[in-house]
Amino acid sequence: MLVSNGGAVRLVLNSGETLFLDATFRCRSGIAGVSHGHSDHLRKHSTQTIATNQTALLFPSYFNNPGLEYGQQLKIGDALVSLHDAGHVLGSAQFRIEEDDNVVVYTGDMKASPSFLFGGAEQPECDTLVIDSTFGSPEYSFPPASDVAESIKSWVSTHSDSNVVFGAYPLGKTQELVSILNGIGVQPIISRRASHFSHVCDWSGLRQEFLESGTPEAELSRAHACVEIVSPSLLQRSAAITRSENGKRTLTALATGWAGSPLASGCDRAFPLSGHSDFSELLEYAASSGAKRVLTVHGFDRELAAHLRKRGINARPLHLAGGAQARISDW
Ligand SMILES: [Zn+2]
Repeated sequence: MLVSNGGAVRLVLNSGETLFLDATFRCRSGIAGVSHGHSDHLRKHSTQTIATNQTALLFPSYFNNPGLEYGQQLKIGDALVSLHDAGHVLGSAQFRIEEDDNVVVYTGDMKASPSFLFGGAEQPECDTLVIDSTFGSPEYSFPPASDVAESIKSWVSTHSDSNVVFGAYPLGKTQELVSILNGIGVQPIISRRASHFSHVCDWSGLRQEFLESGTPEAELSRAHACVEIVSPSLLQRSAAITRSENGKRTLTALATGWAGSPLASGCDRAFPLSGHSDFSELLEYAASSGAKRVLTVHGFDRELAAHLRKRGINARPLHLAGGAQARISDW
């Protein structure tokens, strides 16, 4: 098996077939693999595409097949490909590729510990681990999701006479927030797009109670203090509109792993609700995988690789490969 980088994690199988994992371009040949539905990972490929059945349900116009169940094996030449829960958002998957007694795992965006909705990533053992290093720097340390959820519940309850507007991504954070807020009897107003994702969550057995923006029920609820979840980029504008509708004090909050960053400025609160593993979790995950070599991708790839090497693990950033193919066993 050969590996290279360049707009995708590229694996060339013995059959000559190329797997393009999380390609940022539209694949017209080979086989595309989509780890999950966030926009930096999802493209409408015009070739065979592998994703989970939940990702296919979330984005029906992107897939022409129903997707795979977690653990289901797909044979490509001599290789066996399967998807394993990444614990990041609904339908998120790690790719496990086995060929010639060599197992490669690509994590995609991943959360090893439990989030408020999911039980945490599965950990398939492997010889080579290609790990996402979005938060692969020691400054990123997240509290347990259950603690963050309690802070959110307490803060919203304390301000029940005010409007509260959260900025959160429509897929992932919004469903977590809905679930957390349902725990204190609050049905937040969410966008039509987020509502589709929450319905798929609901069909998957993760109960979601919410009001869809634009429906009579949602508009009626705006006459009183209400809780709303919008995309982070719309936060301040939406808060101003909500304030003008019922004249109530309106508080804003972000729910993101980047809560300590300048992105959070201008909000009343920022909650470190992350769908990613933090630094120490990434180190632990890589060490527990049993991998003989670890290739880091995205974000703090150099830092994470350097810290793994300090622990005696053979690690380096995949981007050093550039577009040049290297035999996996040579890394
Ligand atoms: Zn993501």
